[in-house]
Amino acid sequence: MTTGLVWHERYMWHDTRHAAAAFPSGGWIEPDTHAENPLTKRRLKNLMDASGITPQLQSIEPRMATVEEICRFHERSYVDHIKALSDDNGGDAGGLTPFGPGSYEIALLSAGGVMAACDAVLDGEVDNVYALCRPPGHHALAGEGMGFCLFGNVAVAAHHLRAARGLGRVAIVDWDVHHGNGTQAAFYDDPSVLTISLHQDGCFPLFSGAVEDNGEGAGAGANINIPLPRGGGRGSYVAAFERVVVPALERFAPDFIIVANGLDAGAMDPLGRMQMHSDGYRELTKLMMGAADRLCEGRLVIEHEGGYSSAYVPFCGLAIVEQLSGLSSGVEDPMLEFLRAQGGDELAPHEDAAIARCEPLVEKVPAA
Ligand code: ZN
Repeated sequence: MTTGLVWHERYMWHDTRHAAAAFPSGGWIEPDTHAENPLTKRRLKNLMDASGITPQLQSIEPRMATVEEICRFHERSYVDHIKALSDDNGGDAGGLTPFGPGSYEIALLSAGGVMAACDAVLDGEVDNVYALCRPPGHHALAGEGMGFCLFGNVAVAAHHLRAARGLGRVAIVDWDVHHGNGTQAAFYDDPSVLTISLHQDGCFPLFSGAVEDNGEGAGAGANINIPLPRGGGRGSYVAAFERVVVPALERFAPDFIIVANGLDAGAMDPLGRMQMHSDGYRELTKLMMGAADRLCEGRLVIEHEGGYSSAYVPFCGLAIVEQLSGLSSGVEDPMLEFLRAQGGDELAPHEDAAIARCEPLVEKVPAA
C-alpha cells in the first residue's frame, strides 16, 4: 500500500497576523499569536520527519488551483477581492479570516493540493493521501471567507472530481470540531455530493449545523449534521460513525471519499471542548478506510483542516497517517494515558440520545 503526502513549505507562510486565540487584537485585547498559525502543522510535519515516516510516503507536489477551478464554488468577485487585498498588503476575507500579502497564492496552492491528492488517487499513483495543507477551507462560503478559511478546499476538490474527472458521486466527511458550514452550503441542493459534518453542538459558527438542516430541493437528504454534546470523545465519535456516518455512506455509495480532518476535537484544543485523542482518530480513519474499500476501491483523501493545540495535533495527525499507510513510526503518544483518564472514551447516555436523533437521517440519504 502506498500513501501520498501533500505538503509545501509555502503553506507555512500564510500569515494570519496577530490576535488573541481567534479574537482580533485591539481595544483591551493585547496582540498575541493567532490560533491558526503554522506551528501545529509544522510540528506535525516535523514529527513525521523525525520519526522517519515521511520518506516512506510518496510526495505529491501541490499545484495552484486555477481561478476557473476555484469558481466552480466561489463567486468571481470574491476571488478578485481576495487577490486585490493579497496583492496589496493583505486584509480580512470575512469573519475572523485575516491574511497577509501573498496569501491568495498560498490559498490557491492549498485548494490545488487537495485536487492533486484526488488526482493521484484516481490515477492509481497512490492508494490514498494525507493532504497537510493550509489555510483550511471548510468554513469558506461562495462569496465570503470565514473562520480562517479563504477557499473551500474540499468543496473545490469535490467539484473537480465531478466536473473534470467525471465521477458521479462524492462524499465528504468532516470531523473538524466546528461545523463544516461552507461545505454544506456548497452542495446543499446537490444530490451528487453527500456532505456529513460531526461537530461540537453550538460551537462555531454559532447557530449552525442543526440536525434539521438536511439539504434542500434535489439535495434533500444529502446533507447530514451530527451535533455532538461537548465533552464527548472516542465513545461518541465511534458510535456516531458506526450508527450514522458509515450507514449513510453505504446507502449513498460514493465513488470517492474526502475527509475534512480537523484535529480540534482533540482533548487539548483551545477552540473546542471535545476529548478526542490519537487512538480515537486512528479508529475513525480505520472506519473511513473500511468504507472506502467496500464502496469505492479504497479511494480516500484526508485533508487537514483545523487543530490548534501545537502540543497535541502532531500525535493525532501521526496516528492518522500511520493508519492510512499501514506504516508504524514507532512513536507512542506520550499524552494518551493522561488524556484517556480525563474521560470521553465511553458513550454517555446523553451522547447516545444525541446520536439517536441523527439515525433517521440515514434512510433519507439519496440511494445510489
Ligand atoms: Zn475547526
